[in-house]
Amino acid sequence: MARSVLIVEDEQKIADLLRLYLEREGYTASIAADGGEALELFRKLDPDLVLLDVMLPVLDGWSVLQAIREESMTPVIMLTARGELNDKVSGLRMGADDYITKPFEMKEVLARIEAVLRRGGDAGLSAGRKLTFDKLIIDLEAFELIVDGKKVDTPPKEMELLFHLASSPNRVYTRNQLLDEVWGFDYFGDSRTVDVHIKRLREKLEGVSEQWSLKTVWGVGYKFEVQQG
Ligand code: CA
Repeated sequence: MARSVLIVEDEQKIADLLRLYLEREGYTASIAADGGEALELFRKLDPDLVLLDVMLPVLDGWSVLQAIREESMTPVIMLTARGELNDKVSGLRMGADDYITKPFEMKEVLARIEAVLRRGGDAGLSAGRKLTFDKLIIDLEAFELIVDGKKVDTPPKEMELLFHLASSPNRVYTRNQLLDEVWGFDYFGDSRTVDVHIKRLREKLEGVSEQWSLKTVWGVGYKFEVQQG
């Protein structure tokens, strides 16, 4: 069945372009031109995903996101002209699943949508954005990493990478899978990017607990290993 996307965007040109592109890729797409219409259509259509512009008439994107989150965990990708980290952090804190900075390429939007929809299929991930292990709390809502009771400053990508690995304990991910699923689009770095982030995470997590660890699986990739029982 075709996946449905609700596009919330007041710039008609951008909205039409997004709809055309998504329909060409086999999605069904609807457009809301302001925040009020967005909530109306959201409730009526129950879409699989929402692309949500931040600067909107009637209700801005943050208010729309908040209203959506009060009633559903439907994936939301924010679209915004501003690229500051603060926006991203507040967006993720408020429950957005991803964030795309304008101007964007259609290819990138599509890749992000696919990655978010794929992630949405992971049990537990859409239900909560906080994972707890022995001496470790990975909290994507507050964007905090708590190691042995202490808050450890951690850049967003490291947080997301660790969260992604830890949300499927003992599952082995290849570097390319991680690039695709965490960085979320045709990232122009290479797989060493993953290695560098893992190395930094290890410096923060090494020797903290015997119940879990970030393991290298030689020749394959990485996993968040949790001792069974
Ligand atoms: Ca706008």
